[in-house]
Amino acid sequence: MEPTSLVNRIEVPARQGRAVRVVAGGRVRVVDVAGRQVGDVFTFAADDLGEYLSASHTRATLSRLFPAVGEDFVTNLRRPILRLVEDASPGRHDMLIAACDKARYAALGAAPDHASCADNLRDALADLGLASIVVPQPVNVFMDIPVDTAGGLDWFEASTRPGDSITFEALIDCVVVVSACPQDIVRINDGVPSALELHLWDPDPRPSDAASAVDTSTHATQTRR
Ligand SMILES: [Zn+2]
Repeated sequence: MEPTSLVNRIEVPARQGRAVRVVAGGRVRVVDVAGRQVGDVFTFAADDLGEYLSASHTRATLSRLFPAVGEDFVTNLRRPILRLVEDASPGRHDMLIAACDKARYAALGAAPDHASCADNLRDALADLGLASIVVPQPVNVFMDIPVDTAGGLDWFEASTRPGDSITFEALIDCVVVVSACPQDIVRINDGVPSALELHLWDPDPRPSDAASAVDTSTHATQTRR
């Protein structure tokens, strides 16, 4: 069901990250504003940042590389934390590749001050007065890393179009961090990192709020399984 009580829209500027608190039952949508932009999504339990969405535990639970719509991401304590409720994108996402960081860019020959998703995570959490000693494996939305039959990986450009999105429902109170990946050396962002947008809904949408709902009529609304 499409939520109707949109409560907040937050821009994630190109090459930056933002953190938001989402209560159980609330929803967060990541929108690729201009298309061909990867977002690194991290999620922590609100009461203990030592518990966080774990890609490896999720893969083991689902026996899949990435959840299908309706399936749950779990934490390092194997507790469901997010549900994938809608995918209005080409459906290409990655849960294998680590967040980019200073060492990654140093190896690629970038300037020492190149932005990274790992730094964006730390900065965004700090804006909420929080800190994590780990940089979890992120959920790389819109990132297209196909696995071939020999086990090899490729690095494709994101195939998203302007306005494509993916929507998650929080299953416990959590902190969600989204980094608009600043990768401009490997071609995943088509060489030009751009902004993302977050749309947030409270639980239990009220019909009277429908008039204030975001207009998604211009966006793709195909739901993939
Ligand atoms: Zn990145």
